[in-house]
Amino acid sequence: MAQKESLVYEPEQLEAYDFRRAMEEASRCLLCEDAPCSQGCPAGTDPGSFIRSIRFKNVTGAAETIRENNILGASCALICPQERLCQAACSRCGIDKPIEIGKLQQYAMEHERLTNKTFLTKGDTFTDKRVACIGAGPASLACAAELAKAGVEVTIYDEHSEAGGMLRYLIPPYRLPDQVVNQDIAQLEKLGVKFELNHKVSKEELAKLRTEYDTVFVGAGMWGAKTLPIPGADLEGVVTAIDFLSEARTNRGEVKELGNVVIIGGGDVAMDCAATSKLLGATHIYDVFVETLEAAPAVQQEKEFVFQLGVPMISEFKPVEFNGNGKVQRVKFEHMTNGSTMEIAADTVILAVGQKLREDASTFKEEEGLYIGGDLLNGGDTVVRAVNEGKEAAAKIMESFRG
Ligand code: SF4
Repeated sequence: MAQKESLVYEPEQLEAYDFRRAMEEASRCLLCEDAPCSQGCPAGTDPGSFIRSIRFKNVTGAAETIRENNILGASCALICPQERLCQAACSRCGIDKPIEIGKLQQYAMEHERLTNKTFLTKGDTFTDKRVACIGAGPASLACAAELAKAGVEVTIYDEHSEAGGMLRYLIPPYRLPDQVVNQDIAQLEKLGVKFELNHKVSKEELAKLRTEYDTVFVGAGMWGAKTLPIPGADLEGVVTAIDFLSEARTNRGEVKELGNVVIIGGGDVAMDCAATSKLLGATHIYDVFVETLEAAPAVQQEKEFVFQLGVPMISEFKPVEFNGNGKVQRVKFEHMTNGSTMEIAADTVILAVGQKLREDASTFKEEEGLYIGGDLLNGGDTVVRAVNEGKEAAAKIMESFRG
């Protein structure tokens, strides 16, 4: 077993703005009247407004805007693909470079943490209503926050021992430290949201919950991993990205020696696996995917980070066979267009080829009259989109309460 302290990050270890840098960056804002950046945020976090507050040295006001609009404001600051969302819409793109919105959001959320401010309070509109949320991932957390702000008594059920879903168990701590997830979850606890953890809700129990609560929201995530239907996929040492990242995170870096690692996939999850393997001391790491480097779906920043770690990325090759005697030893690949083949020695193969709903979660989708959001609704998308769906579901639930 190898213990890697490098997997246990604290917010202070993240690269962050200081006051001077935050003011400089906020001062680059053109204060556009239509705030295209705000329109570019799926969760409605309203960067146009919080950047303006920072620009006028009202960092507390900025933190309040973020928190009121996005219960996962601290986590989103670190993990949103801003280059595709709010920053892509920034008017400064056409002049020099967009405002670093994620960094400003991180700065404001860090201010909230350091000053121990609480901005949200439980309301009194629907104090006679009770809602159960299944799953403690982004969609459920956002739904629960909106309802609690209106006075609803909310209980979140989740099979894991801690709340946060993918934020807690899949995104590596070097990108999203536990303490930042805790900061977001703490806001829900202050709103009086209750958590029933280590509690998996079956279809039968769902029926019972539906009689006990006024309404049930389901925000189950995609915890099923896709595998590859090729020879040797069941050899020891061939693992899914979900299992690998969950184990690395849950055991805080105490995982078996990895040896030579071959990662299959070109998305953000594959990049997370590559960087985590590096931090865990793998001997050699290769990331192989079927797309060209440009077309690989991971965000540019993550690709660059993995490059900087010295992980070779091999594009346009598909795996055709895993070889080994009980345990994986080699992976055979074939080029996507010219048919040439190559083999790479491997002690660990990580399949980062996509996720799917588990069968038990899929059945929730067939239930009539349930409110759903997140992966269950959108088939797997960004955390901010899940936040938006949670907020929208809460609005519909409250509409139904009004009759
Ligand atoms: S929540 Fe994400 S997408 Fe929205 S403004 Fe903040 S960083 Fe941008």
